[in-house]
Parts: sequence; C-alpha cells; structure tokens
Amino acid sequence: MEEKKLINGRLIIVSGDITRMTCDAIVNAANSSLMGGGGVDGAIHRAGGPGILKECKEIRKNRYPDGLPTGEAVATGAGNLPAHHVIHTVGPVWHGGNSGESEKLSRCYRRSLEEAAKLKLKSIAFPAISTGIYGYPKENAARIAYNAVYNFLDSADLPQTVYFVFYSPGDAALFMDVMDLR
Ligand code: ADP
Repeated sequence: MEEKKLINGRLIIVSGDITRMTCDAIVNAANSSLMGGGGVDGAIHRAGGPGILKECKEIRKNRYPDGLPTGEAVATGAGNLPAHHVIHTVGPVWHGGNSGESEKLSRCYRRSLEEAAKLKLKSIAFPAISTGIYGYPKENAARIAYNAVYNFLDSADLPQTVYFVFYSPGDAALFMDVMDLR
C-alpha cells in the first residue's frame, strides 16, 4: 500500500512492522504490568532487547508500583530499535463499549502525544492500540485514534508527524474506508 497523508501531511498511514519504523518514538500497546506480553508488545521487547524491560521495571518500582493505569503513557529508551524512544501506553480492554472504553482509548493517544511533545520529538508512530488481544472493534478504534490525533495536532507544533502503522495492509485499508478516504 502506498502511504496516505492526512491532516496537512502530518498524519501518515502505513502498513508494516512498527519495530522497523525509523522515527523519534514508537508507541507500545503495553499492559499495565509493563513487563512485556504478546502482540506488538512482545515484538517491541524482542526487537529492542532487554534494556527496555529494565527501564520498565524502574518505572514500576519508582512511579507505578501498582501498574500503569489504563490510558496513561510513559517513555523509555528504545534499545536496539531504529527509533529513539518507546512510549508505553495501556489501552482499554473492550467490554462492549459502556465501560468508558472510548475515553480511555482516546486518552492513550493524547497522553502518548503529550509525552512526545514533552521530549520535543518530531515524529511518533502508533500501532492500532487495543485492536488485537484487547478486542476493540477496529472501525470504532480508527475513528477515536483519528479524532484524538486531529485534536492534539490542531493546537500543537510537536510532534510534527504522526504515523499510524497497521500491521496488515487489510487493516490500513479498513482505516481508510472508515475515514472515507479511499
Ligand atoms: P492490544 O492488547 O492493545 O490489543 P495487540 O498487540 O494485541 O495489543 O494488538 C494491537 C494491534 O497491533 C493489532 O492491530 C495488531 O495487529 C497490531 N500489531 C501486532 N504486532 C505488530 C507489529 N509488529 N507492528 C505493528 N502492529 C502490530
């Protein structure tokens, strides 16, 4: 799939493996333990090496002994990855839509972007948070992700560029369909 640009070129839709992204930060769809897991979380820790987990353990010990709350985000280094930082955020588990899932998912994007801005980062790449193991319907998640990024970029100069990295071309195409952009 060719990449598509939205929001004055500041949001770029691509498909592929987020661990291969060369940008200032990639976002990890972590779980609250911050100790790694399956899906994109496992891929990031495998490709990035043990340094990321070491930093996550420090964060747990010093800042979040009970785990990172859903919707919150924290930054670490990126170990062996081409990116420079990993921003770990905890998406909501889908419980049918009446448990504040949309607000929590939106907050994941906003808080990750705030962390990136705080670090003065120019570019950040997001996976489709919560749409794997956590079961969030992809169409709903697409709208929430887009709106959260749109609203943030509207009043912020940094990050300049946001990537949505869909693991499969089919998921990228679905996003474009939902946003009526194909
Ligand atoms: P969650 O627990 O938040 O649902 P998952 O990792 O299970 O997290 O899935 C989130 C999304 O990340 C899914 O759409 C999945 O297809 C995608 N994904 C899995 N591995 C990768 C990867 N290496 N790069 C980009 N996206 C990935």
